[in-house]
Amino acid sequence: MDTVAPFKEIIDVIKANGGEAFKRCFQCGLCDVVCPWNRVRTFSIRKIVREATFGLTEIENDDIWLCTTCGRCPHYCPRDVKQIESGVALRRIATEYGVFPTSVKPVRTIVGSLVGEGNPLNEERKKRANWAEGLSVKPFTEGMEILYFPGCYPSYDPRSKKIAKATAAILNKAVVDFGILGEKENCCGESIRKTGDEQLFKRLARENIKAFIDNGVKKILVSSPHCFHTFKNEYTEFKVNFEVIHISQFLFELINNGRLEFTKRYEKKVTYHDPCYLGRHNGIFNEPREVLKKVPGLELIEMPDYRMDSLCCGGGGGRVWMETQKGQRFSDLRIEQAIGAGAEILATFCPYCITMFEDSRLTREVTEKIEIKDITEIIQEVI
Ligand code: SF4
Ligand code: SF4
Repeated sequence: MDTVAPFKEIIDVIKANGGEAFKRCFQCGLCDVVCPWNRVRTFSIRKIVREATFGLTEIENDDIWLCTTCGRCPHYCPRDVKQIESGVALRRIATEYGVFPTSVKPVRTIVGSLVGEGNPLNEERKKRANWAEGLSVKPFTEGMEILYFPGCYPSYDPRSKKIAKATAAILNKAVVDFGILGEKENCCGESIRKTGDEQLFKRLARENIKAFIDNGVKKILVSSPHCFHTFKNEYTEFKVNFEVIHISQFLFELINNGRLEFTKRYEKKVTYHDPCYLGRHNGIFNEPREVLKKVPGLELIEMPDYRMDSLCCGGGGGRVWMETQKGQRFSDLRIEQAIGAGAEILATFCPYCITMFEDSRLTREVTEKIEIKDITEIIQEVI
C-alpha cells in the first residue's frame, strides 16, 4: 500500500483539511448502497472512510478521485460523516504531493487555464463577453438591479452559450435592469475546490468578490447551480453576503408576477433532471417543475430517481474535467431513463449536466430519440 507520509501525518492532514468527521463512521455501508458508482462499477466510499481513519489512504489510487460530490451518501449517512468534505480533504493531500492518476491529469491543464485566464476552457479572458454580442446586454454599472453571472461554460462553450443567450433574451423581454461583468468575471471556483485545489479556489473567489464590491454588486443571478452553491454557501467564508438567485427561482418569480408572458405553445413531453447542486445540495426542486408546468402545451413527466434521489450526471466534483471510462458514465444511464419514461426532451438547469448529457446523446447514438434543453432555452421559444 503506498502511503506517501507516515500514518499520523496523514491523519493530521485529514483533520486539518476538514476530514475529522471520518471517525464517526460505524461502517454500516449505506453510503455504498446509494452511491451511483455502484450502478456502473464497484466503488466503496465506506472503505475510503475506513482507511483514512487509520491514515492508510492510498493517495495514488483513482478511487479518491471518483466521488462526484453528488450529495446522496451524506443525505443517507446516519452518522453525519461528511463524506464530501472528507473526500476533498484527501484530494487536497494528493494535490499537495502532486500525485495525480492518469484519469485526473487533465485537471492540471484546467489549473493552468484558471490561473492564466480565469476559466477552465483554455479561452482568452478578453473574450468572456463575446457571447453577448448583438444581444443588447450592457456592462454592469453601480445601481443596476441585477448582475447576471453566466459562468464559464455559458460564456465560452458553444453548446452552453445558448443558455446565456436565452437568459439574456428572457431578461430583456421581462425588462429586467441587468448587466454583466464580462472580462472582470472569473470562474466561481466551486469545482476546482472539489478537486482539492484550495489555494486556487481562494484566489478566484477573492478576485470575484473584489470585482463585485468594486462594481457595487448587490444581487447576483446565476445560470449554474455550481456558481449558486459557492456564492451562497462558500463565499460567506470570506465574510461577504451577496443576494444570490438561480435562474430557476428568478423565472418562477417573473412568471408569477406577470412580468413574463407566454405567446406560443410547446407541445412536447418533457422530463426534468434535478442537478445535484440545485436540488440535493440547495433544496430547489419545485421552482423548475412549476416553471415547466406553466408552459402552455408542455407535458411534464417524471423519470425514476428524481428530486432528492436524482441520479447524478457525473460532472460534479471536477469530474466534468476527468476521464470516465465508456460504460461507466452516469449520464448514459440518465439518458436511457429519460427515453424510457417517454420523454422527447430531457430538460435541466445546469451547464455541466447539459455538457454530460449532450455527450452521452452523441456517443449512445440517440440524437433522434431525445433532445437536451436548459429550461431557459424552452422558455425563450415560447415568449
Ligand atoms: S453511511 Fe455513514 S456511517 Fe455508514 S458506512 Fe457510510 S460513512 Fe460510515
Ligand atoms: S457524494 Fe455521491 S458520488 Fe460521492 S461517494 Fe457519496 S454517493 Fe458516491
